[in-house]
Amino acid sequence: MFDYASARERLLGMGACDRCIGRQFFRLFSPMDRGAIGAKVRQSKTLEEALSAKPGKPVLKQDCPLCNGHFLEVGGMARKAAQLLQGIGYDSFLVGCRVEGQLLGREEELWNEIGADNSEPLKKDLVRQLGMELEAATGKQVSFSHPDVTVLADFTTGKASLEVHPVFVYGEYKKLVRGIPQTKWPCRHCHGRGCSYCNFTGKMYPTSVEEIIAKPLLVASGASGEKFHGAGREDIDATMLGWRPFVLELQHPLRRTLKWASMEKEINSQAGGKVKVHGLRPSSKAEVRMLKAAKYDKTYEAIVECDSDVKGLSRLEEAFSGAEIAQQTPARVLHRRADLTRSRKVRSVSAELLGPRRFKAIIKAESGTYIKELISGDGGRTKPSFSDMLGPCKCVELSVLEVHNHV
Ligand SMILES: [Zn+2]
Ligand SMILES: [Zn+2]
Repeated sequence: MFDYASARERLLGMGACDRCIGRQFFRLFSPMDRGAIGAKVRQSKTLEEALSAKPGKPVLKQDCPLCNGHFLEVGGMARKAAQLLQGIGYDSFLVGCRVEGQLLGREEELWNEIGADNSEPLKKDLVRQLGMELEAATGKQVSFSHPDVTVLADFTTGKASLEVHPVFVYGEYKKLVRGIPQTKWPCRHCHGRGCSYCNFTGKMYPTSVEEIIAKPLLVASGASGEKFHGAGREDIDATMLGWRPFVLELQHPLRRTLKWASMEKEINSQAGGKVKVHGLRPSSKAEVRMLKAAKYDKTYEAIVECDSDVKGLSRLEEAFSGAEIAQQTPARVLHRRADLTRSRKVRSVSAELLGPRRFKAIIKAESGTYIKELISGDGGRTKPSFSDMLGPCKCVELSVLEVHNHV
C-alpha cells in the first residue's frame, strides 16, 4: 500500500529532485506540474498539508538519483530538436527518449519499495515536458497517431535526432509499352553496383514504371529514396492498359505537401508516352497493406499462336468460362517462388480468330492467375490449359485491360 509519509521520507533521503518527488504522487493531486507537486510534498509532512500547501519554486538537481538531472536538460534538448526540424516540412511530431538503463532500474526498485500506484514513469514525464517545449518552440502539434516526424532525444548522449516518416502517395497507372518492368530491377550479376553486363547502370532494364513515376515526386518532395507498392504486377513484356493502383512511399521527405494535379502532369509529360498516371492523392501505410492483400480480378487480352489450325474456339470459350484450373508455380518463376499448386478461377473467356493459327482471347481471371501458362499449359504444370484443347499453343502478346478494383 502507498503510504505518503514513508514514500516522502524515502525520496528525501535519497536526495531526489522536486520533479522526481512530484512524479511519485501525481495521481493524488489535481493536474499540475510534477515539480510543483514535489515542492509541496517536500515542505509537508502529511498529505492533507501537501494538498493545501502553497506551491514553492520546484528545485531541480543535476545529481538527482532518479533523473540524473535530465529535467534540467530538456530545454537544451528542445532547442537542438527545433534546429534539426528547420528546413523540414511537417505539421505534427512525436517525441521519444532514451535514458540510462540504471535510472530505469532505480525507478523499478523504488516502486518495489513505495508502490507505483500514484506514480508517473520518468520517460513519460520527460517526453511530455519535451513535447510541450517543442510545441512552444516550433508552433507545431504533438500527434500520437500519425506524426510526420518522430524526435528522438537521447539523454545518455545529449543528442537529438529525427526520424522523418514517409509520405505515401496513391495513384493508378497504365503501362502503354512492352519491355519495361514495374519495379527497379537490380543487375543480377553485380546486384546494383555496376558491371560490364549491365553497362554500369546496375540495372537489368534502363527504366521501370517505378522510376518513371517516382522521379518527379522525389524531386518535388526532396525525399532521399522511395518504395513502390503495386496492386499486383504485370509481366515485363505485357502492357497494362487498364488503371492499376499503386502506392509510392517517399522516404525521408523534406516537403510533405505536394500539388497533386501538377505532379500528375509532370509525371505524364516526362514519361514520354510509356506510362500514364492519374488520381494522385495522399495515402497511408494502412492502404499499402490493403493494396497488398487485395485480390482483384483482372481482364487480359492475349494473342495466341497455335502449332496447327485453330478449331473449336467456341468450345474453348464454353469450357474455360467459369472453370477452375490447377496451376503449379510456372517454370519461369520457380527460381524466386515456392513450388506450389494453386487453384484459380477463370471467370470468362471470349475468343476471336485472327488467322488460321492465330486468335485473340479476352480472359477475365482471378487474382494470381498465370495467363501465359493457362494458354501454354507450361509442360503440364497448369491443368487444364488451352493447349490441352487446341494442341500446342502459346501467348505471343499479353495486355492487361482492366484491374477490377472498383467493385
Ligand atoms: Zn530528478
Ligand atoms: Zn551489373
